[in-house]
Amino acid sequence: MTFVAAENRYSEMTYRRTGRSGLKLPALSLGLWHNFGHDRPTDTQRAILRRAFDLGVTHFDLANNYGPPYGSAETNFGRIFAEDFRPYRDELVISTKAGYDMWPGPYGDFGSRKYLLSSLDASLGRLGLDYVDIFYSHRPDPETPIEETMGALASAVQQGKALYVGISSYTPEQTRAAAAALAEYNVPLLIHQPRYSMFDRHVEDGLFPVLDELGVGSICFSPLAQGLLTDRYLSGNVPSDSRAATSRFLSSDVLTDTYLERVRGLNAIAAERGQTLAQLAVTWILRQRSVTSVLVGASSVGQLEQTVAALDAPALTPDEIAAIEPFAVH
Ligand code: NDP
Repeated sequence: MTFVAAENRYSEMTYRRTGRSGLKLPALSLGLWHNFGHDRPTDTQRAILRRAFDLGVTHFDLANNYGPPYGSAETNFGRIFAEDFRPYRDELVISTKAGYDMWPGPYGDFGSRKYLLSSLDASLGRLGLDYVDIFYSHRPDPETPIEETMGALASAVQQGKALYVGISSYTPEQTRAAAAALAEYNVPLLIHQPRYSMFDRHVEDGLFPVLDELGVGSICFSPLAQGLLTDRYLSGNVPSDSRAATSRFLSSDVLTDTYLERVRGLNAIAAERGQTLAQLAVTWILRQRSVTSVLVGASSVGQLEQTVAALDAPALTPDEIAAIEPFAVH
């Protein structure tokens, strides 16, 4: 059936300005790293994307190698986009990235101009788009001069294939160098995509102050620690349909006694606030004003709805933030 987006799709979501740019992002964005490959039913993928948009989630984040297999998340998104979302293109922020292994040989990995620009063309082909809103260098490359990698991002903008550019998992020093290299082309660095959650706080002291100073936004990936900061594993068991059971990126080895003690402590704090653990994890990240958007994944419509409902909760009090500290990893 033809998709008609909900009329009230902008009534609940909040939008935050990305650094000092003109672009606003939803407080919660949806990532397609998992759950959108050829291993998942198209109907579920379509239902999650439709529901997300109806809830005001205007930003979908991809990368060349999301799947499995590599490329398939872009292919699947492209198909659903063509069928459902084409009339809404101007209401969507769609991003993709290149930087991890994509194809064999020396030109399908890291940060050369050769790799980034050919990968972007391939992504646009799979997505069925003329341009992406944000094109990222997916990770720093220790061997390629940062001027070359940033020059490739700037070319993507100059060629009209990307409106904005971003970087992911760059250190504070590399971030400064990236912004300076882009400035040579009059292309601002829009956004940084770091990992950030109650279980990974490395960006708090180092990266966030630099982003604030440079006027660069941030969108935090794996905010639920891939599901560890949800009720998925609270019992200590691994559900057969969970990421820990089905993906090479999350091992059940992490379900230690220390882990269980932490999530059960956090879950009790969430319950006192009338929230789920996943919702507390989102509310906790959004307390940071350096954060533009929380980039979640979801394997079902129900998960997405629950996570988005975190935005209805009151902000954390100083006492609640202090109570979380012993259970959050430093
Ligand atoms: P999350 O930490 O949000 O983990 C998502 C997983 O958590 C889901 O697949 C699901 O697990 C579980 N989950 C989500 N909501 C709920 C809920 N309400 N209740 C219970 N369980 C829930 O994020 P991801 O690790 O998926 O990363 C999000 C996005 O960040 C990616 O899609 C990608 O766009 C980006 N990313 C970027 C990286 C980079 O290098 N730049 C690296 C990694 C991610 P289950 O499948 O078990 O149901």
